[in-house]
Amino acid sequence: MSKAVISLDIGGTSMKGALVSKTGDILHKEEFDTDPSFTTDEHKSYIIKCVESLITKKPSEYDIVGFGADSPGISDKTGVHIGGAENVPGLKGLSFKDIGRVFNVDALHANDASVAALGEFRYGSGRGKDSKAAMIITVGTGIGGGFVFDGELFTGSIGAAGEIGHVCLVPNGERCNCGSVGCVERYCSATAYISSAKTKVHKGLKQTELTMDIIEKGGAKVIFDYAKKGDRLANDVVAECSHYLGIAISQATNMLDLDLVLIGGGICKDFEMIIPYVRSAVIDYTLKIQAERLSIEKASLGNDAGILGCAAMFFK
Ligand SMILES: [Zn+2]
Repeated sequence: MSKAVISLDIGGTSMKGALVSKTGDILHKEEFDTDPSFTTDEHKSYIIKCVESLITKKPSEYDIVGFGADSPGISDKTGVHIGGAENVPGLKGLSFKDIGRVFNVDALHANDASVAALGEFRYGSGRGKDSKAAMIITVGTGIGGGFVFDGELFTGSIGAAGEIGHVCLVPNGERCNCGSVGCVERYCSATAYISSAKTKVHKGLKQTELTMDIIEKGGAKVIFDYAKKGDRLANDVVAECSHYLGIAISQATNMLDLDLVLIGGGICKDFEMIIPYVRSAVIDYTLKIQAERLSIEKASLGNDAGILGCAAMFFK
């Protein structure tokens, strides 16, 4: 019999479920709506129903060897969620091990950004790479990250490692949702590209075809579209925000001696546009001996990184 894991990538309003084989093949995938106002017990009974549904789709030649879950927030060593998911507060106190026991399988849970990082490393762009110290940085509305050292997820003392989005980049800088100021994600998330473009348009800094209305409707994508067409203001935004992303990567590299960085999230659709600025900042701000060895590449799994990471927690 071949081995498969039940994967559940838990978000605020929806969950992605899947059956994943050891080789990273998604044997079945489905999406479930969920409710961020669920109590802990409601989350538990709903997740059990979802897992039951996934098991009915199991191909007969596969054995289920585990239940892997990820979500916002963190869990302790006994598989109980202990908080950090402000948007889904009912997850706190949920025992993933208890859910596993219902199905007679071991259960593992970790933070969603960390698990996605492991998925990307094991089954995505990190696959087959001889990396000793990798960081996967996800640049979307916010910025998340995860570290894989010697092929294993590194989650820190309580499971909260990887918050590169909240490393301070600009002292006394812009206020961040986390309560601090000057955080990385205020300067190079997709949201930052949008706010930088709006500020520049508002100030009338350069000739541009971009307007507040166009940016409002089109988001970060439209800024890249205009930059490709040669719009000077849009190109300035891409250069500036991507430079900040490069500085953030250089800080992590100096500290952790990284040899591989994979950039994922919505922004990696335009990887070719951002990478020259990212690389140039990395060369400027990283110790030479490290910068020379560092490979920076595009992540490849997109939204499947979470469900594949849930399986990767079981399969070495
Ligand atoms: Zn922050």
